[in-house]
Parts: sequence; C-alpha cells; structure tokens
Amino acid sequence: MSETLFHKILRREIPADIVFEDEHLFAFRDIAPQAPIHVLFVPKQDFATLNDVPEDAAVVIGRLASAAARYAKEQGFAEDGYRIVMNCNGDAGQTVFQIHLHLLAGAPLGRFGTQG
Ligand code: AMP
Repeated sequence: MSETLFHKILRREIPADIVFEDEHLFAFRDIAPQAPIHVLFVPKQDFATLNDVPEDAAVVIGRLASAAARYAKEQGFAEDGYRIVMNCNGDAGQTVFQIHLHLLAGAPLGRFGTQG
C-alpha cells in the first residue's frame, strides 16, 4: 500500500487535531466535518480498502468500532447517538486509500444512501 496523508498525520508531518492514539490506532478530527462531531479512526496496520482486510485481521476493524464507542461515551454523546461509516472505493466516495472509520455525531443525522 502506498503512503497516504494519514501516515503523515500519524508522524505529525501534517497538522491535525489528534484526539486519541494507542499502539493499534489513532483518531483525529476530520478537516471537512459532515456533522458537529466528525472524527476519523485509523488503524496503524495498513490496508487500502475494507476489501483488503483478510478475515484473520477482522480484529483491526473491531478495534476501530470499539474505540469510536469508547470515545462517544467519554465525550458524553453515546446515549444521544452517533453513526460510524467506512467508505469503500468509488461508489462510496472513498478518497483516502488507507482504511478509516468515520464517527459522526452531535446532531440528528440525515438518512443515507443514493441521492434522489
Ligand atoms: P473518505 O472519503 O472516506 O476516504 O474519507 C477521507 C476523509 O479524510 C474525508 O472526510 C476528508 O475530509 C478527510 N481529510 C482529508 N484530509 C484531511 C486532513 N488533512 N485532516 C483531517 N481530515 C482530512
């Protein structure tokens, strides 16, 4: 997998508002938030898309979801609600080819799917 801007964020070569980091993953605020709270959770193990994650690495995805839920509880919006999203490839609008989970919260969220 080639280098992405998220690698540069992890190495602090590009500024970002990093809200969490441990040995497995890191999380930072999205630069173009689609909700009042929009945080990206990125594993330190590299996969370009969800299609590239083998079944024996499924724990990598589980850790992202667990970290997002923990963050929501710590920040006090877990009971109000939130959405987690992973975009895969073109039809989903994936733009950074290093898997990441979006956490969206802070207001009632619209439905999703195709437009119109
Ligand atoms: P995706 O479209 O699912 O690949 O998500 C990529 C996300 O990365 C988008 O929501 C972008 O707004 C976000 N993004 C791009 N560049 C940066 C950056 N420098 N800092 C934080 N988020 C970024």
